Amino acid sequence: MVATRKLTPFEEVNLFFDQAAESLGLSDGHREMLRRPWRELHVQVPVRMDDGHIEVFTGYRVQHNGARGPYKGGIRYHPEADVDEVRALASLMTWKTALMNLPFGGAKGGVQVDPGELSVAELNRLTRRYTLNIEHLLAPNRDIPAPDLGTNAQTMAWMMDAYGQLHGHSPACVTGKPVEIGGSLGRDSATGRGVAYLINQTARDMNMNPDGARIVIQGFGNVGSWTARLLQEYGCQVIGVSGVRGGVYNSKGLDIPALLEHQRESGAVPGFAGGEDITNEELLELECEVLVPAAIGNVLTAANAPKLRTKLVVEAANHPATPEADDILAERGIQVMPDILVNAGGVIVSYFEWTQNLQEFRWEESRVNEELLKIMDRGYQDVREMAASQSITHRQAAFRIGVERVARAVELRGFV
Ligand code: GLU
Repeated sequence: MVATRKLTPFEEVNLFFDQAAESLGLSDGHREMLRRPWRELHVQVPVRMDDGHIEVFTGYRVQHNGARGPYKGGIRYHPEADVDEVRALASLMTWKTALMNLPFGGAKGGVQVDPGELSVAELNRLTRRYTLNIEHLLAPNRDIPAPDLGTNAQTMAWMMDAYGQLHGHSPACVTGKPVEIGGSLGRDSATGRGVAYLINQTARDMNMNPDGARIVIQGFGNVGSWTARLLQEYGCQVIGVSGVRGGVYNSKGLDIPALLEHQRESGAVPGFAGGEDITNEELLELECEVLVPAAIGNVLTAANAPKLRTKLVVEAANHPATPEADDILAERGIQVMPDILVNAGGVIVSYFEWTQNLQEFRWEESRVNEELLKIMDRGYQDVREMAASQSITHRQAAFRIGVERVARAVELRGFV
């Protein structure tokens, strides 16, 4: 019997890529060039810890494809951020920036570390060492990092500072910075704003009334918490939320500002007085209209996909569903809106931040939010039209549009 092994995250993403390449009739050579990262850097990141001993971490920057512009993508600090996961995420950035028609390629970086275990001073030293070790790949017109899981505006401030010590003040070298030192208004909320907008649009187009729709969100970090906050503006009811240590549920809707306050004080979601505690597994199986995975990857699997009791899955996290889960959800008639469309709000406002930095000009927040929704809407309409005209899933449509644009850029540039 042939032993079947579990696919790696990069192999999983490439199943979606291969389907798109097949439907576009790309040659084997083009497929190989577009599938594989153009460049990968592995670095050692030694850090002197506060007690004096040295810890050595491993970091990566994977530049997946630069045909459409400078490489763009976040930096992840997570114990599972190995090179294969970073590759998968870098390729998703390539398809995401192309799908949203932003003038960028795709990249991702990662350091295998649990940031919760390090002090602020240790994180500052780790970030500086990592930045210096990948600095020769970076530049405002070459490769522009941003926050991702486990990193935030403070991390980007340290990166900008480390980069600036070598190259002079260069705010456009990273995005997602604090507003006080060149960040864009509206960047912090951007991914969640895009997610909330997309939930509202999709629900309407599925003839569900967003007003009163029951939403369950897995993850209460930057993306999950902003999504929850902004969804309330559309009249939706967030009935379940979970964080790393478990979740809470209230059939009548959770008071999100109060839950945020509780998380700030206690450091976790469970124990909130305005709901009952549930496990992460129970949360995913709650009956609801919309399920929003907004945490880590591979949380929707062949094991739990048959048990989901939702009508719509909106992927705020990157790569939350395995291909098997994707197939099961499609068979069950549960609509899935794919990550490269849903969570593009972050990189869209990163694009605005980069242009503002290059022009040394600041936009008002209302302009940022307005332009963000325009681009989200165009991406959503493109995906819907492609899915309807070709009778394919929204994920297949999103990949087909992204892959076609990158293939076209390669052809126009004429470098092969
Ligand atoms: N890390 C975010 C993402 O996965 C944002 C990337 C960026 O702004 O460059 O899309």
